[in-house]
Amino acid sequence: MGETVDLGRRVELVPMDPHFLNISIALYRQDAGEGPQYLVHSYSRRQGTRQRLEFVAKAMVLLGGLEPVAGESLQIRFPCRTEHPLACRRVFLEACKLDPSQPGSSRPLHILDRKSNRTITVSSRNDGSYLLAADGEEPDKASRIAAVANGLAKLGQMQLGASGSDFVQLACGQPHDALVGLLLVRALNVRAVLREEEMAAARGVLSAPSAQK
Ligand SMILES: [Zn+2]
Repeated sequence: MGETVDLGRRVELVPMDPHFLNISIALYRQDAGEGPQYLVHSYSRRQGTRQRLEFVAKAMVLLGGLEPVAGESLQIRFPCRTEHPLACRRVFLEACKLDPSQPGSSRPLHILDRKSNRTITVSSRNDGSYLLAADGEEPDKASRIAAVANGLAKLGQMQLGASGSDFVQLACGQPHDALVGLLLVRALNVRAVLREEEMAAARGVLSAPSAQK
């Protein structure tokens, strides 16, 4: 009767997994003695489901810098033991998209921004704060950096601009380089991310937690 155990609160759902038999995969948030943790779960009984879920959990460790909960292959948490819920949802979605036939790797803290044709670099100060910079000529540079910082802040629930519009900070005060690298890709076009989420909400994918089992 494993399905009757309390899974926790569902925070995200991939209704049709493109990499494994279109099964649905969900991410649950659980409260543990040592702080919040997440569970990758599916109700599918198709053979190979367990291995697929283990792959997604491992991909979340790789891409988002989460860590496995000791002795568990489907439960992960952030090393800082903080929830980071929005960021974790993003890591989950990216982990589900990762092609299982390719060796994955975490994203670097720099990226070519096609919109401004600049390389945006994010430097960790090891206290959960990150400074953004860009190469190239001055005109519009500061405004583009500020826009990307704003995107990071939205996607990662980071504090913006405590010491300038080129600066973001995580509330936990701990470095999250893999996570910030992953969010940086999407921060370049945060409007597209927000549009996607609105469409998902319209489809009922992101219904209110109170309406979910
Ligand atoms: Zn943290």
